[in-house]
Amino acid sequence: MAKIVILGAGTGGMAGAYDIKAEVGAAHEVLVINERADFQFVPSNPWIAVGWRKRPQTSFHIAPYFAKKNIGFIASRVDHIDPVAKVLSLHNGDKVSYDYLVIATGPALAFEQIKGAGPQGYTQSVCTLDHAEHAYQDYQQLVAQPGPVVVGAFQGASCFGPAYEYAFIIDKALRDAKKRDKVPMTFITSEPYIGHLGLAGVGDSKGMLESALRSKHIKWICNARVTEVQDGKMLVEELNSKGEVLANHEVPFKHSMLIPPFKGVDAVAAVEGLCNPKGFVNIDEYQRNPKYPSIYSAGVCVAIPPVEATPVPIGTPKTGYMIESMMTAIAHNIKSELDGQQPSYRASWNAICLADMGDTGAAFVAVPQIGPRNVTWFKEGKWVHWAKVAFEKYFLRKMKYGNSEPWIEKRILKSMGIERLK
Ligand SMILES: Cc1cc2nc3c(=O)[nH]c(=O)nc-3n(C[C@H](O)[C@H](O)[C@H](O)COP(=O)(O)OP(=O)(O)OC[C@H]3O[C@@H](n4cnc5c(N)ncnc54)[C@H](O)[C@@H]3O)c2cc1C
Repeated sequence: MAKIVILGAGTGGMAGAYDIKAEVGAAHEVLVINERADFQFVPSNPWIAVGWRKRPQTSFHIAPYFAKKNIGFIASRVDHIDPVAKVLSLHNGDKVSYDYLVIATGPALAFEQIKGAGPQGYTQSVCTLDHAEHAYQDYQQLVAQPGPVVVGAFQGASCFGPAYEYAFIIDKALRDAKKRDKVPMTFITSEPYIGHLGLAGVGDSKGMLESALRSKHIKWICNARVTEVQDGKMLVEELNSKGEVLANHEVPFKHSMLIPPFKGVDAVAAVEGLCNPKGFVNIDEYQRNPKYPSIYSAGVCVAIPPVEATPVPIGTPKTGYMIESMMTAIAHNIKSELDGQQPSYRASWNAICLADMGDTGAAFVAVPQIGPRNVTWFKEGKWVHWAKVAFEKYFLRKMKYGNSEPWIEKRILKSMGIERLK
């Protein structure tokens, strides 16, 4: 009997646990270790930050659901990985051995790279549920005493969708509160242009998102490098295409939320030879680490090069659909290894994303996610907002019971003119 340990129970780890268990069956043990006892649905965090959702609606205790599928679960942080002895040291003092390790630890948030950034400083975050709840407290103060709002993504960020979402969601929430007229808004982003998204754009994402920002009276600064955040003031350098400083801005704010750069979590980044300099796990085309072949990895924690060089460095986003496809490939590859064969399955690395804009939204499909692409599709409409609300329910159900409804996914794809993705 082989023991497969999955490190992290977020979007990737949860999906991977069900996929891998279904693939290897009762003959092998699957154990998930996560620093918390509950699953948290990260894409709902922008709604938490304006009070449209509460914690119990977007998170649940993992253990009872895994127990039904005969998947083991330990709620404790992993502090050390010994890839030679194949042993994990847990924060609760336990040691856990493995035959195969699947690392799905997501990102660590590198607020320390920008002076004054993050919830310990002067900007809010929606990257974790705790942060989003903290942001909601600040948002309530904004509604009580309106003032300027700054939203966007710091230099080195790789996740831009939630920044746009939060800007449009806060616009809608303030309109509902009849306070929008008292709140000047600025979108500050390290992207070279609006709608780049770390992907060199998707379809007409530039035109559509610029138009949406304009029509909602949100100004923007691109190629932005934040040099410091002070109490109520952001100091920003705007670069030109050569990477030289074009202008300096001092942008006042009452409430601000910028997505930080991501890096690898400490326990993973510390393993000698496992990661790139940012602490992201190096993988081959089969999601396997070249130095430690019994370690696979999927999700935000894997190393992917940027799509192109930009005046302000930014990264490539890793989105939910591609993360799930990485896990599906891992499940097949571990099964192949257990059957005495070589890994041969590759993830599809396609992106299907629904970005909420409060009362409308933008959906995009990029196949593959990194261009040049066979399919590029970007549409805006009220239906996207409702699709995202429905998707939240669907995804939470899928994370609880592990049984995705392939017919729903097939029908969505068919309506977009795509027959098959995986
Ligand atoms: C605000 C936000 C909104 C997003 N919205 C979308 C969206 O709408 N659509 C989309 O496709 N993508 C979206 N993404 C991108 C991506 O899909 C999510 O970030 C997704 O949650 C990443 O999944 P993951 O499994 O890699 O990491 P996570 O979901 O972050 O999971 C990692 C897990 O590992 C645990 N962990 C970390 N370190 C340790 C340790 N040492 N020991 C034990 N456990 C540990 C963490 O606690 C966590 O539970 C969004 C990202 C953000 C930040």
